[in-house]
Amino acid sequence: MTHEKPAPDATPIVSLSKLNKHYGELHVLKDIDLTVVPGEVVVIIGASGSGKSTLIRCVNGLEEFQQGELEVDGNTLLPNGKATRALQKIRTEVGMVFQQFNLFPHLSVLDNVTLAPMRVRGWSQDDATATARRLLARVGISDQADKYPSQLSGGQQQRVALARALAMEPRLMLFDEPTSALDPEMIGEVLDAMRELAREGMTMMIVTHEMGFAREVADRVIFIDKGRIAEEGPPEQIFDAPQHPSTQSFLSRVL
Ligand code: ADP
Ligand code: MG
Repeated sequence: MTHEKPAPDATPIVSLSKLNKHYGELHVLKDIDLTVVPGEVVVIIGASGSGKSTLIRCVNGLEEFQQGELEVDGNTLLPNGKATRALQKIRTEVGMVFQQFNLFPHLSVLDNVTLAPMRVRGWSQDDATATARRLLARVGISDQADKYPSQLSGGQQQRVALARALAMEPRLMLFDEPTSALDPEMIGEVLDAMRELAREGMTMMIVTHEMGFAREVADRVIFIDKGRIAEEGPPEQIFDAPQHPSTQSFLSRVL
């Protein structure tokens, strides 16, 4: 923990209450209650198939849910995809970085980063370009601006994806296993960029298997077991003294 501790009693920027999600017969998320306050870094861990991606995709409206309520920065999403205006607002305020970088292959690095601010926010080319160059420098790839994604390493592409998300000036950043598709020697450079972002006070929800990183940057760790939050707490508590048998068994397998 390098940044100042977020105030635990601050008004949450993310709030899920009794959220339930089904894929047909499959009950994927079960009574999820979760709040995140501004500046907080929440790391979500759990076995493969436990519902981590689904949870994080619900937060920016990529997935519908069937029961419960979800509020992001004052925008309320209701079950079954109602409230489309709120959905649009959430999508412009929440940035996301996926395991697969999902860059536009036919656009240069610079154009990947300027596209959304120009199209969605209506920024001029000059403003968007200046911001993009600043962000590319911030993630350490200012010299790659005119290349195409295929000419970059995986670690560089993921840092472009991060810069692209940040260009929209998000209020919240979601990460779904951002380093899982990377060669080992490139994981560090992406984690460094995320660590820096956390230090600057960005609110972040991160799904990761990088337990060392989780211990270091998380204000709170959430352990999901079969669609339920089985245990949550500060990293020292979850990693050093897990209470729930499923947390103990998961950690004994991954640590
Ligand atoms: P995790 O990210 O923790 O590995 P997921 O959220 O991806 O877990 O998946 C949770 C469960 O939901 C798994 O059983 C998975 O097979 C199922 N699932 C995920 N996406 C879909 C989908 N689009 N349709 C049907 N089932 C899905
Ligand atoms: Mg997943």
